Amino acid sequence: MHIILATSRGFCAGVNMAIESLDLAIQAFGTPLFVYHEIVHNRWVVEYFRRQGVVFVDDLSQVSHGAHLLYSAHGVPPEIRRQAALQNLITIDATCPLVTKVHAEAIRFARQGYTIILIGHAGHDEVVGTLGEALQSIVLVQSPDDVDRLDLPDTARIAYLTQTTLSVDDAANIIGRLRQRFPHIVGPAREDVCYATQHRQEAVRTLAREADMVLVVGSCNSSNSQRLAEMARSQGTPAHLIDGPDDIDLTWFTGSETIAVTAGASAPEAVVRRCVALLKERFNATIESRVAKEEQMHFTLPEPLRRI
Ligand code: SF4
Repeated sequence: MHIILATSRGFCAGVNMAIESLDLAIQAFGTPLFVYHEIVHNRWVVEYFRRQGVVFVDDLSQVSHGAHLLYSAHGVPPEIRRQAALQNLITIDATCPLVTKVHAEAIRFARQGYTIILIGHAGHDEVVGTLGEALQSIVLVQSPDDVDRLDLPDTARIAYLTQTTLSVDDAANIIGRLRQRFPHIVGPAREDVCYATQHRQEAVRTLAREADMVLVVGSCNSSNSQRLAEMARSQGTPAHLIDGPDDIDLTWFTGSETIAVTAGASAPEAVVRRCVALLKERFNATIESRVAKEEQMHFTLPEPLRRI
């Protein structure tokens, strides 16, 4: 067996910032410490913090009056900020700046009188947050067919935005359909599908062509991890999304194939290493690291944690 490890893979700058923020907040304020939604979409990371005494909530009624509350990397709608203020919560905003950028664009387009078409997945935490910024002016589309069903007046000023973790190819298809239907549509000055999502998808697209199988380390509720598995399959290569070594079924392999291994933006490198170690031990695999893109991106900590 030959294993090719994809680079870029694993933690992005937004996930690093969110995890460091939560670690520092625990040190500074102690526990219980509340987090609205999962800090990042990864089972290992969430379980690690639960063991430290962090309480993840989907509803602020579960948070004690005056407690510390951290917003996850995916961001929150303004309604949650209002509720938190009413409950006198001390908030720490670990929203990824690239998600905040999309929120700011939604607010700006709405103020300028645009109808905003948000390309994203219904119910995803990030999408819920972005929709909340411009409730009266925004509609969600998930496919080119959704674009065909839009009923907007010819005179409408129309803008589009995208979720940060979409498939680059799906986003391009939907934007193409939008441009056909609404030739005057405007979009963000810079691409919203984030650098980390793009790099990981580009790497897996290339490696899937020379691999017999792709393993994507990531949780099933991680949008960008799911997109990596889909990208591999779109190249005709079987792919498995695995949370960790326990999800690896050894009957998938004959022992003589080339396996590409990558990881979603919220998957810890230690888990990737454990998966690779298992294959190395069972199949005497050789390991090659293939670097497509080096990443230097770094985001500063939220304000209250910078002074700690
Ligand atoms: S995947 Fe992209 S948008 Fe999401 S946290 Fe990472 S850098 Fe930010």
